[in-house]
Amino acid sequence: MIAGEGNVLSGPVTDLKGVGAKVAERLQKLGIEQIQDLLFHLPLRYQDRTRLLPLGSLKPQQEALIEGTVRLSQVKFGRRRSLLCYIDDGTGSLVLRFFHFSKTQQQQLTEGVRVRCFGEIRNGPSSLEMVHPEYQIIPADTIVPVEADLTPIYPTTEGLHQLSFRKLIKQALACLNDAALLPELLPRQARCHAVAETSLVEALRFVHEPAPDVNVQLLLDRRHPAQRRLAYEELLAQHLTLRKVRMQMQQHRAPSLASNGEQRRALLSALPFSLTGAQDRVFQAILGDISSAVPMQRLVQGDVGSGKTIVAALAVVEAVSAGYQAVVMAPTELLAEQHFKTFSTWLNPLGIQVGWCVGKQKASERKAVLADLVDGTIQVAIGTHALFQDEVIFDQLGLVVIDEQHRFGVHQRLALRDKGRKKDMFPHQLVMTATPIPRTLAMTAYADLNVSVIDELPPGRTPVTTVVIPETRRNDIIERVHLACQEKRQVYWVCTLVEESEHLQCQAAEDAANELQAALPDLRVALIHGRMKSAEKEQVMHQFKVGNVELLVATTVIEVGVDVPNASLMVIENAERLGLAQLHQLRGRVGRGKIESHCVLMYHPPLSENGQSRLTCLRETSDGFVIAQRDLELRGPGELLGTRQTGLPQFRVANLMDDQDLIEVMAEAADQLLAVAPENSEALVARWFGHKVDFGHV
Ligand code: ADP
Ligand code: MG
Repeated sequence: MIAGEGNVLSGPVTDLKGVGAKVAERLQKLGIEQIQDLLFHLPLRYQDRTRLLPLGSLKPQQEALIEGTVRLSQVKFGRRRSLLCYIDDGTGSLVLRFFHFSKTQQQQLTEGVRVRCFGEIRNGPSSLEMVHPEYQIIPADTIVPVEADLTPIYPTTEGLHQLSFRKLIKQALACLNDAALLPELLPRQARCHAVAETSLVEALRFVHEPAPDVNVQLLLDRRHPAQRRLAYEELLAQHLTLRKVRMQMQQHRAPSLASNGEQRRALLSALPFSLTGAQDRVFQAILGDISSAVPMQRLVQGDVGSGKTIVAALAVVEAVSAGYQAVVMAPTELLAEQHFKTFSTWLNPLGIQVGWCVGKQKASERKAVLADLVDGTIQVAIGTHALFQDEVIFDQLGLVVIDEQHRFGVHQRLALRDKGRKKDMFPHQLVMTATPIPRTLAMTAYADLNVSVIDELPPGRTPVTTVVIPETRRNDIIERVHLACQEKRQVYWVCTLVEESEHLQCQAAEDAANELQAALPDLRVALIHGRMKSAEKEQVMHQFKVGNVELLVATTVIEVGVDVPNASLMVIENAERLGLAQLHQLRGRVGRGKIESHCVLMYHPPLSENGQSRLTCLRETSDGFVIAQRDLELRGPGELLGTRQTGLPQFRVANLMDDQDLIEVMAEAADQLLAVAPENSEALVARWFGHKVDFGHV
């Protein structure tokens, strides 16, 4: 790989002491094959066993090394038998709790014994506790030294203990005695940030074996220059990988979709509105992309209600005018239905055939749709992930539109693109998302895409006023719902649950609907949730849209896309349980008309600090990008994008929040590297992502 023949670092891990076939197999699960891979297997975090913390200073969730004298030790028989040891050290006290304990342990931990423990501090029923700490009895009048160094904790796998890991890393570091064995792959020109100047070998040594005089907090926060040096390289490796995906894609060909624009103009002139400047700008960019013979890879970001659908529809019309098919994929059946209607209304008058394909369709209906797709009768297919199935075959697919991309995985995105592949011809791809992603994150997650932003809302919208109200004032809120309906407005009442259980969520919504109907007998209340048949859902949605239903009680199924301009009040129950992005999406359902709209975020007191920050943020701003940035700070990027769904790599040292300044310079660093030392690019990627990630398929 990087290290050449005869270089010990490129030797297999079995060259190390204590590594037999079994251990090698376990290491391989972690992507570790060569000795060098061990060096790049970085600590997840560190434990600080270098100082004893006074009991009086402890805080919940903290990991701490402590020492104290047992004052009382007793077995409690509650729901679970447990051994409780009350210790103190003169500054405060703490309870050690053991659910599993032997007679010997019980005898050991008796009154007057001095004990040293390491573990996580938790809030117990009556005081702070450590549950099952690692402990050691300290004999009277002896001084047992604390550890000199921080203890690195490595990501590991079943059957490989931290201790064995540390031993392996030690051996690998010993192989590194000659720094020349591990070449620097960053030419001077690619060091676009001061942190890149630190030597790689020093940085690696440091993170594995931090010097005793290290600034501990810096290291624990992953802000140490050694970590930042490695983060720089890791981010660059990731950037180069996506670059490669993008360059590979650009070598493929796509049909050039260009027409005389007649149908497009017909659609535009039939609309009751004209495009906003932002819509027009983004559409022009798309038009430029799809008229070229290179597959478009474009992400359109636009806040809820910014009008992404019409932009997609115009691109679809262009594809059809050029003689190709287009497909539009939505994350839920409800949204697919709505798109099907919208697209039919817009495109049928132009003589364009729109069909749809969802999971719950009748077999006969589906068969007919599939046949029409194969022979090209249906020019535009709208649907859910049901469109991924093998039996779905297109005649000439020219454009793939994916709506609300954050709900789909990257893999799905690529699977759909591959569907339309004919030899080396790929369809163009347009990805739309209402989750505004902070710029730096977009640069990392979507470096293989071009990004455009619809940063303007259609005129005539009134901003939504948001209030945060405790559940204890439920009756006032119900009264407010009543008032709104008397003023001929419509209301959403959204139920959420912490569990991912759809069943429980639907139950909660049903209960709420019954309660509200009983409290407001003169209102027409309806219920919509994910377990209803699509025909039923459609019926309810239709009744709400035409105004026959005044109060719609819903689960979060209404999150995306649903459009009812007369709805001017939304109540969200247990709002503290949802993430910022999701709340923002939900709130986007109101404020779609000219009337002043309100959103009530109802919460169960007490609010956690984080919950409070989230709800306050929503009350203070409706700017999706500000909210996204805040979400990133409060929850971390993985949660924001749904790591599992996005294929966003799990970094070893880089931190998308704290390393934004590094991300900023990656494009430049990659340009430089590719210009002066292109041969290093592959080595760099292999070093960091090696055999683990096959980005070619991401
Ligand atoms: P989103 O970006 O959330 O998908 P939609 O495409 O559903 O937003 O658009 C929201 C609403 O705004 C729809 O009713 C749509 O017809 C309307 N709309 C879109 N563009 C404009 C515009 N330029 N002027 C006025 N209304 C518009
Ligand atoms: Mg939409």
